[in-house]
Amino acid sequence: MPKTPSIKFEIDAQQDEARAGVLTTRRGKIETPVFMPVGTAGTVKGIRFEELESELDAKIILGNTYHLWLRPGIDVIRSAGGLHRFISWDRALLTDSGGFQVWSLGALRKISEEGTEFRSHVDGSLRFLSPEVSMEVQAALGSDIVMAFDECAPGEASHEETERSMNLTARWAKRSKDAFDRLQSEGADTGRVEAQGLSGTQALFGIVQGAGHLNLRRNSLEQTVNIGFDGYAIGGLSVGEEKSVMFEVIEDIAPRMPKDAPRYLMGVGTPEDLVEAVGRGVDMFDCVLPTRNGRTGQAFTSRGKLNIKNAQFINDTRPLDESCGCSVCRRHSRAYLRHLYVTGEMLASILLTHHNLAFFLDTMRGVRQAIRSGDFPKFRREFTERLKANGE
Ligand SMILES: [Zn+2]
Repeated sequence: MPKTPSIKFEIDAQQDEARAGVLTTRRGKIETPVFMPVGTAGTVKGIRFEELESELDAKIILGNTYHLWLRPGIDVIRSAGGLHRFISWDRALLTDSGGFQVWSLGALRKISEEGTEFRSHVDGSLRFLSPEVSMEVQAALGSDIVMAFDECAPGEASHEETERSMNLTARWAKRSKDAFDRLQSEGADTGRVEAQGLSGTQALFGIVQGAGHLNLRRNSLEQTVNIGFDGYAIGGLSVGEEKSVMFEVIEDIAPRMPKDAPRYLMGVGTPEDLVEAVGRGVDMFDCVLPTRNGRTGQAFTSRGKLNIKNAQFINDTRPLDESCGCSVCRRHSRAYLRHLYVTGEMLASILLTHHNLAFFLDTMRGVRQAIRSGDFPKFRREFTERLKANGE
């Protein structure tokens, strides 16, 4: 008897490589292409869950395995009944594997075949993360989509170094899958819920690595698909390589990825990056830009980026973005937001984060609509032209 799947993915419109569809998870349906706000430590920084649910209507957010594992630790989250219950979020959650965070520690980590040893940035203690540990932590978190544990080669890595790293990622992918299957059969997943006609278990995505080397990327994809995952991600981009390299990789790899599974571009990018990657066949995105930049006074708008601290906004009574319908743009002026920012009021971060997330999510809504109505090329062209018109 065929196994009941843990997720379902259906494409209902396609225009060239751009796809619009519905990803059904055990915690609801998600229209794709989708942008997933990043909730690093169990919070999407600067915004309440009520607003994510109601006004912004985010259907899925991210959690970070590395951060949650170190603090509060999996015992706390397990005893709370999993991450959904701990943070009080009933919609879908995706957790990363911790691989990228550990990789970002640079000199503070030591990579071996077995896994990665590193010093915790919280208390300096020596910790060890491996495919098996990552799967165990993600089962304790009970996220709906789990990411395989991978290694990321630096953007400027040589072919030889990247090949070694990419093959290690493939071996770790297999170990991730084996550990994942064992944990599911043991009932370790705290988020289990039978809904939407699915199996109720977590879904597992594999990650394609290989930096800017297309032959390694293709090899990585082949090895990952051979292991077999519920979805496939492109990792290791936007880590310092040229933007042209990033798009070359996406353009080459995304259309080769399984057509019936979601394609997820990890950690990318600006609104224009998202639109361009959709045009190359990507379905899912996450990025800290809207939240992080919101906290440093930067707003993303349909006419480019805007730094609210600039003196030009002192008396500017217009909203951040005149074509944005979010509650911040409906209510507040640039002059007021600038005042909040320069006086160090926490509301500045909250309001800018809110608008930025609204802009990213609205952009994806527009993208989906355009693909469904057959207008994506026009949408893409006008979106890019508008951004350039008044950008900084
Ligand atoms: Zn707005």
